[in-house]
Amino acid sequence: EAKAQGRNTVCFFDPEMQAAASARSLLEADMRQALVESEFFVQYQRVVDPGGSLLGAEALVRWQHPQRGLVLPGTFISVAEQTGLILPLGRFVLRSACEQLAAWAQTSRSAAWTVSVNVSAQEFRHPEFVAQTLAILEETGVNPAALKLELTESLLLHDVEDCIAKMQALRSRGVGFSLDDFGTGYSSLAYLKRLPLDQLKIDQSFVRDVLTDPNDAAIACTIIALAQSLGLDVVAEGVETEGQRQFLLNNGCRRFQGYLFGRPGPPEALFGR
Ligand code: C2E
Ligand code: MG
Ligand code: MG
Ligand code: MG
Repeated sequence: EAKAQGRNTVCFFDPEMQAAASARSLLEADMRQALVESEFFVQYQRVVDPGGSLLGAEALVRWQHPQRGLVLPGTFISVAEQTGLILPLGRFVLRSACEQLAAWAQTSRSAAWTVSVNVSAQEFRHPEFVAQTLAILEETGVNPAALKLELTESLLLHDVEDCIAKMQALRSRGVGFSLDDFGTGYSSLAYLKRLPLDQLKIDQSFVRDVLTDPNDAAIACTIIALAQSLGLDVVAEGVETEGQRQFLLNNGCRRFQGYLFGRPGPPEALFGR
């Protein structure tokens, strides 16, 4: 009997699976609490031009947990996506970024800056995404041209027509769009041409070994050339060394983000260099 069952029986009591599942529900419960207790906050990482001047910043969410300490998005974004908590979390990040832009607009130091906000597939696919985004811009009084939304290739592969319509609706108000982690997905060139984008971000996995791995160097250069021929801006992410910066600059990249220019930190730190 036991032998006959053997292969096709699903084991509900695999201790490892159970431990993982309960760790996940604990994280989910903690996240619900954290949204109420305001434990999430936003850090900013600089994006600079070849002279090192600030072009803008990327908003990156963090979680200050009373016991766990500082928790990075790698730990909780996928659980937030699986549980729907990404919707309130995403709105929180967008609102924080817009409030920050509004505060900077008061100081007039920042006329041409943009802040980039990451958007998960589930947020972007939500039928109210466009309306909610415009409402936050309106409530905070931010110039929509100061906001860039970062999408990923995999998000855009699903229901392309709907994505294009949403992008056009926001772009007609001035909001910009950036394709994050570019090169890691499966975009075809024909498809890329159809998307109303402003910017490509070279994934940091290609930047890391750009000086030592000829394949990564070729991919980085191809992305830069592709962006140029499509009339898009291109940003290199994960730039950690002067050598990487120089290589990318020599090959036509004019926007950089990475630890070389500053780690993600509080908004005030953007001025501190
Ligand atoms: P991403 O959008 O590609 O963001 C860049 C990540 O690279 C950030 O990690 C940043 O801290 C890190 N980074 C920046 N410069 C360097 C560098 O020079 N070297 C290395 N090794 N890393 C660098 P972080 O903040 O841990 O975020 C990870 C990912 O989580 C983000 O990748 C993004 O996909 C997601 N994420 C972060 N904030 C949000 C958010 O508010 N909403 C959503 N939906 N996703 C978010
Ligand atoms: Mg990003
Ligand atoms: Mg990225
Ligand atoms: Mg990434």
